[in-house]
Amino acid sequence: MFQKSKFKPCENCQQPVFPKEINCPYCGSPIKKDFLPKIVIGILLLILLSTLAIPTKGKLEKERKRIVSVGAATVDVSNWAKNKNKKAMLDKIGELEGKIVELHLQVFVATHLSDYFGIVTVPSDGIPGTYLMLYPKDGTETAFLNNIKAGQTIKIRGKVNGTYLKRIKIEPAFLI
Ligand SMILES: [Zn+2]
Repeated sequence: MFQKSKFKPCENCQQPVFPKEINCPYCGSPIKKDFLPKIVIGILLLILLSTLAIPTKGKLEKERKRIVSVGAATVDVSNWAKNKNKKAMLDKIGELEGKIVELHLQVFVATHLSDYFGIVTVPSDGIPGTYLMLYPKDGTETAFLNNIKAGQTIKIRGKVNGTYLKRIKIEPAFLI
């Protein structure tokens, strides 16, 4: 059964007409198609999506500026990898959770994933293996990271954020 709300009054004779009718069954005048609501819903959805996207980008940029510009707050990670004992290593990671680190790292493999690069780095010189979620600042950095080869070194700053693939995860990470 049709619900009452599905009917609209005919503009000519005011009789309730099912909007899918081409002509009013009472007076025969053409029924106007209601395109507007779909367009309005579409526009509202676009506005909603863009307002969701902008704060995320703005927030990331704020985070980048903070992490890149912070001075003495960087943590010394030398001797980090020398903790062969797994528990000692995990304790050390626990201590550094949420702290900002600055590292020269050797790239093992880099993968472009949506808006960031997932980068696995090689442990060396007291620096542990890391997994970076590195967000490029602009097109130049994106191009640089897309062409990066295993063995190349990068200098980054980022926040220690747990572990991933038995490595120290640094998220977000930024080139400096
Ligand atoms: Zn009518």
